[in-house]
Amino acid sequence: MRRIAVLGATGSIGESTLDVIARHPDRYQAAVLSANKSVEDMATLCRSHRPQYAVMGDEAAADALKAALENVPEVTVAAGAAVLDELVSAPDIDTVVAGIVGFAGLRPTLSAARSGKTILLANKEALVSAGGLFMEAVKQGSATLLPVDSEHNAMHQCLPIDPSGRPEMSNVEKIVLTASGGPFRGRSRQSLDKVTPEEACAHPNWSMGQKISVDSATLANKGLELAEACWLFDRKPDEIDIVVHPQSIVHSMIRYRDGSVLAQLGQPDMRTPIAYCLAWPDRVDAGVEPLDLVTAGRLDFEAPDLDAFPCLALAQQAITRPGGMCVFSAANEIAVAAFLAGTVRFTDIDRVIESTLADVNLSEPQSLDAVQALDQVAREVASSRVAALSSGL
Ligand code: NAD
Ligand code: MG
Repeated sequence: MRRIAVLGATGSIGESTLDVIARHPDRYQAAVLSANKSVEDMATLCRSHRPQYAVMGDEAAADALKAALENVPEVTVAAGAAVLDELVSAPDIDTVVAGIVGFAGLRPTLSAARSGKTILLANKEALVSAGGLFMEAVKQGSATLLPVDSEHNAMHQCLPIDPSGRPEMSNVEKIVLTASGGPFRGRSRQSLDKVTPEEACAHPNWSMGQKISVDSATLANKGLELAEACWLFDRKPDEIDIVVHPQSIVHSMIRYRDGSVLAQLGQPDMRTPIAYCLAWPDRVDAGVEPLDLVTAGRLDFEAPDLDAFPCLALAQQAITRPGGMCVFSAANEIAVAAFLAGTVRFTDIDRVIESTLADVNLSEPQSLDAVQALDQVAREVASSRVAALSSGL
């Protein structure tokens, strides 16, 4: 029986993970669930999955959860980052699903790496902001790192993998990272000035949390994924091609030196990559509809439009600068939150990122403290840019 900690249990990744876990009660047990503030959702999850621990982001949320779970005494409710660190590092936890959104997920994911867990990584922002530190922690802790993000999961599936989960890259010429293009594919930058959060979150293929949905609409997500692929597969950015594939059926490809290109195909349903990681190197049923290629009909590919979606070009520049992606990711989080709150325009997101990258003194952070400090400075600079832009709205 694998005992699993699901971080970000109330989110889209958390929900998909718990769905797969519940299909295999003989194999998997959700032992720890964590969430930030969504007490009611967490109470519902605790009633159906009966974890040993439920950890909320703060004391107030934990108190409310305790009250809601009065009749479920087997669930111990706790609060805060320190408790979560302790629980994910505990010897009776085998697997940690990193499903928290944003930089907030870095600390518990690092703890899981240092304590040698199998990490199912969805939280790309943690890896992108602290890649060097994170990969070193995985190595030092002898952790097994399995990518949940559908593109990186596809790459993992198309590569030879050693028994500790590490990919063998020696015959690889290129990684082909696919992008759906998001809900605004084909539109000009000018036409995007007035799009609403609702339109930006209406992804044509995937159902996801709000932040990553906006990232998909701006293509910032593909910039984050470029950095994610560089760290996970030890590549330089120019060894990764980005191709728009609107159907989201080919989830990414590997081109080998003999000209062979291997692709992983599947429905756009995160339960497939999650089930792959949970069962690896075995396979289990994910509850996903079989892929019907005749119904799908066609697979199209085109180049990304960097003029309409400057966030991807900004990421391609930032990735070559020390600490650049930490600043990119922090500025993007601030800008996306402001866009979702209605205080800046969709097209302000890249403006905020660009000016934050220009104004922050960049350097490669060498410790967790240094990463947190760089993230914080970038947030402050981005927030003042947001304030300036919103006053002009
Ligand atoms: P979501 O918004 O649906 O869920 C986020 C979860 O994180 C929630 O459980 C929330 O309570 C928790 N959380 C948020 N802030 C927190 C904080 N400060 N402290 C502790 N917990 C906090 O997001 P999601 O769509 O599930 O995405 C989660 C991560 O997975 C993101 O990094 C995203 O990029 C990545 N990812 C998601 C998908 C997808 O299909 N949703 C696909 C690939 C990668
Ligand atoms: Mg992805």
